[in-house]
Amino acid sequence: MQHYSLKKRVLVTGGAGFLGSHLCERLLADGCDVLCVDNFFTGTRRNIEHLLGNRSFEFVRHDVTFPLYVEVDEIYNLACPASPVHYQFDPVQTTKTSVMGAINMLGLAKRTKAKILQASTSEVYGDPAVHPQPESYWGNVNPIGQRSCYDEGKRCAETLFFDYYRQHKLAIRVVRIFNTYGPRMHPKDGRVVSNFIVQALNNDDITIYGDGTQTRSFCYVSDLIEAMVRMMNNADNLSGPINIGNPTEFTMLQLAETVIRLIGSKSKIVHKPLPSDDPKQRRPDIQQATERLGWQPSIALEHGLTHTIEYFRALLRSGNP
Ligand code: NAD
Ligand code: UDP
Ligand code: UDP
Repeated sequence: MQHYSLKKRVLVTGGAGFLGSHLCERLLADGCDVLCVDNFFTGTRRNIEHLLGNRSFEFVRHDVTFPLYVEVDEIYNLACPASPVHYQFDPVQTTKTSVMGAINMLGLAKRTKAKILQASTSEVYGDPAVHPQPESYWGNVNPIGQRSCYDEGKRCAETLFFDYYRQHKLAIRVVRIFNTYGPRMHPKDGRVVSNFIVQALNNDDITIYGDGTQTRSFCYVSDLIEAMVRMMNNADNLSGPINIGNPTEFTMLQLAETVIRLIGSKSKIVHKPLPSDDPKQRRPDIQQATERLGWQPSIALEHGLTHTIEYFRALLRSGNP
């Protein structure tokens, strides 16, 4: 439907979550009208409270597994719990959110002729047998394990995006996000960066799962948001999938030691059992993002951790984490 306003109307599903709230902020700063949709499963009002007074921002409490009829020009589909603790809490709902959420948002994009971007994940590569992971790698995923509701849900969502692209000529964008961290991560979501920082700030034991030699590559949130927006706006109509992440790889032992040092914490490192299907290594090949989007991450781990530590320090001091 045509609209008299010249402002771009952008829907962000999962907009009250960690990444979604930063994306809403960025889109408002870019002059867009932002419609944030979230069911508050893992997101919180606190993440978007500072935006509620902005006349270009609107919040709707809604579950994307149900149809949504609104008029928009662009859709960023981020709704989905992202940490293993949260997505394994109600695995059936996790799959529904990825699959039915994708169908509804694609149906909405089809009707409104909106561009639509899917927040996919490095988990589509599973426990990768190819390292680092290029977009052409098809992955090594267990279809029936504890992580499958997330991994296979996201893989099916990618399938749906490319079928709507081929069948209905939708303008789609698929980004595969690698581990991202920063302020507004959920303090209890069990992800490694938030766990280690909260443990270190409380001088509690730092829990390393397994021997700590498994690797991840951590991207700071502002770098990630920049890449997502570039992907949505890319002039070549590039669909992806495209990897977004920071290719600098660390072991979990190195991460724990860095967090302890930056905080000056008295925490000791303890080892706990490794969860099943935990990928041994992960690092994005970002050649495509660099060449096609002119993007590469700019925030080094220690710098990003320092900001994230400040956020969690204030949150813990508030007594309301
Ligand atoms: P998050 O849990 O903070 O945000 C997800 C948001 O989606 C929350 O606000 C939650 O309430 C909402 N949500 C969940 N189910 C919903 C539903 N059925 N209907 C409406 N809203 C729903 O997680 P995040 O880290 O911000 O992740 C955002 C997206 O990015 C997710 O799709 C995730 O899979 C993807 N991603 C994140 C990372 C990362 O490292 N943070 C890595 C890869 C992919
Ligand atoms: N849908 C929606 N909002 C819209 C248009 C469609 O939520 O504005 C949902 C609708 O409920 C449908 C899904 O998107 O189930 C897929 O729509 P599509 O048009 O692709 O398929 P169909 O309606 O033919 O099943
Ligand atoms: N991890 C850990 N201690 C924790 C939380 C996680 O050692 O308190 C490990 C986890 O086993 C995995 C890595 O850190 O090897 C990253 O875990 P996270 O849940 O953050 O992300 P994902 O496994 O989805 O990449």
